[in-house]
Amino acid sequence: MPSALVVGAGIFGSALADRLVRDHWEVTLVDRYEPGDPRSESGGETRMLRYSHGADSLYTELAYRGRSLWRELDRGVLIEAGVVWFVHRDGGWEADSEDAMRAAGIPVERLEPAEAERLFPSLRVDDLDYVLFEPEAGVLRAGDGVRALVARAREGGLREERALATPAGEAVSLADGRVLEADHVMWACGAWLARLFPVLAPLRVTRQDVCLFDTPPEWATPSVPGWLDFDSSFYGHGLVEPHGMKVSNDAEGPEIDPDERPERATDERIRRSRDYLGHRFPALAGASVRSAPVCHYALTPDANFLFARHPEHERVWLLGGGSGHGYKHGPALAEQVAAVLRGEAEPEPRFGLAAREPSRALRTAGS
Ligand SMILES: Cc1cc2nc3c(=O)[nH]c(=O)nc-3n(C[C@H](O)[C@H](O)[C@H](O)COP(=O)(O)OP(=O)(O)OC[C@H]3O[C@@H](n4cnc5c(N)ncnc54)[C@H](O)[C@@H]3O)c2cc1C
Repeated sequence: MPSALVVGAGIFGSALADRLVRDHWEVTLVDRYEPGDPRSESGGETRMLRYSHGADSLYTELAYRGRSLWRELDRGVLIEAGVVWFVHRDGGWEADSEDAMRAAGIPVERLEPAEAERLFPSLRVDDLDYVLFEPEAGVLRAGDGVRALVARAREGGLREERALATPAGEAVSLADGRVLEADHVMWACGAWLARLFPVLAPLRVTRQDVCLFDTPPEWATPSVPGWLDFDSSFYGHGLVEPHGMKVSNDAEGPEIDPDERPERATDERIRRSRDYLGHRFPALAGASVRSAPVCHYALTPDANFLFARHPEHERVWLLGGGSGHGYKHGPALAEQVAAVLRGEAEPEPRFGLAAREPSRALRTAGS
């Protein structure tokens, strides 16, 4: 039976551990925290499942494959609400996304702004050119999704270690002095990859403030879809209990140490989220803030993920660089990684270790 050590129980590591266990591998998942811990990037409240990726067919199709795998996992993680894009001008990123989705056979509709009003209890549309609707997209419960994948892997015999790990050549050294070995070692350590492998994984780690509001029950998702506004960089969804209605901004915040994250968003970030909420959904002007947590992104220069073999250690691999959009792709990316580990496929060249040209083509923060 082939074996793997996966270090990091975020979405990338947990989805891979689950995939390999179900392929009858002997798998040990190592993390210093419990799966779904909000100190990881994959913990906390929610993540969007959208297929729009501008003109990029690779991620468009990966995200849509992810939909099947999230549905198969079930366990209440995927809220099938659809998502809409509030589009201010034709011919931009959303139009490219629409073309790529149509080419991939993914359902997508253009709505007149007035038509989109029926999707929300209150919606301002006078600054919109049209609304792009992805009816099969949705919202994922983030910490719950990681826990659900690990729970399924446990049912299949997953082993776990709760420990801080450091690389030891081809092996994994735990804080208590034990050294673990396996046929393959996957370092899926999110933002901390940059600390463990500073030369191979020069990730930029940024602070991302989130805002969750109290709203009346008619704002509940799934009847209210997820939503994104590329030009303003705001995105969110309706009321998802127990978290609230999310209004967040995808623009990169200042660089931070992921171990020194403040607990609460700045007043300025909360004010901006409140302003957008009141602007776009006028009935919610004055809604109160339920919570305002802080998370972090681990960004590669071009927002392509990182998945590559260590250049000096045949059995060692790096997986990460979620770049603010990795969560939804976890299970589908795990399928591809597993195929590489079985020797049946080559890693996607775009995920490799070569120097990358900075690009914003995959970012949904238009401003
Ligand atoms: C506010 C916010 C909104 C987002 N929105 C979306 C969205 O809408 N859609 C989407 O698809 N994505 C979204 N993302 C991005 C997505 O959440 C990330 O790309 C993804 O969660 C990254 O997962 P990961 O497994 O690489 O990292 P992580 O979840 O951080 O997991 C890494 C794990 O490694 C562990 N670890 C690290 N070092 C060690 C060590 N030395 N020893 C032991 N354990 C270690 C950590 O404890 C952690 O649990 C968002 C991110 C944020 C912050």
